[in-house]
Amino acid sequence: MQNNFEKNIYCADSGKYGTTIFSAKKINKGETVFIICGPIIKQPSIYTVPIDFNLYIDPIAPGKFLNHSCEPSCGIKNRTEIVAMRDLGKDEEITIDYAMIVYKYDDLKLKQKIVCNCGSKICRGKFGSFETLPENLREKYKGFISDYMIQ
Ligand SMILES: [Zn+2]
Repeated sequence: MQNNFEKNIYCADSGKYGTTIFSAKKINKGETVFIICGPIIKQPSIYTVPIDFNLYIDPIAPGKFLNHSCEPSCGIKNRTEIVAMRDLGKDEEITIDYAMIVYKYDDLKLKQKIVCNCGSKICRGKFGSFETLPENLREKYKGFISDYMIQ
């Protein structure tokens, strides 16, 4: 058992970009949705979750199906805890903005893979990084950013 949050979510095909995570029930703003788990590694990929400047989790399900959105439903508490940024109904997609966890994509040599297809009206066109995150979004995401970047 990874954690006690299985009842909150299920994974299914997004119909747009492969498997994604959905809420299985109503989740209140500020509630923990699930926790990202997996081995800690030093080599980043497009799937890894940074937990420090040179340390990454290679997430197992459901974490590996956590997709980016430029208009995310969730954010990060501490470094691995996915938390609802607003009240969520059943069957809503669980997303974060990768800028909440990635400081800079240059380090990851993944620039070519970060085109965003989230479909939001406010889509920035590619996955953001915290370094390039506009001031208004830093403000909006306050409290939902991985804490290794803001110490
Ligand atoms: Zn987008």
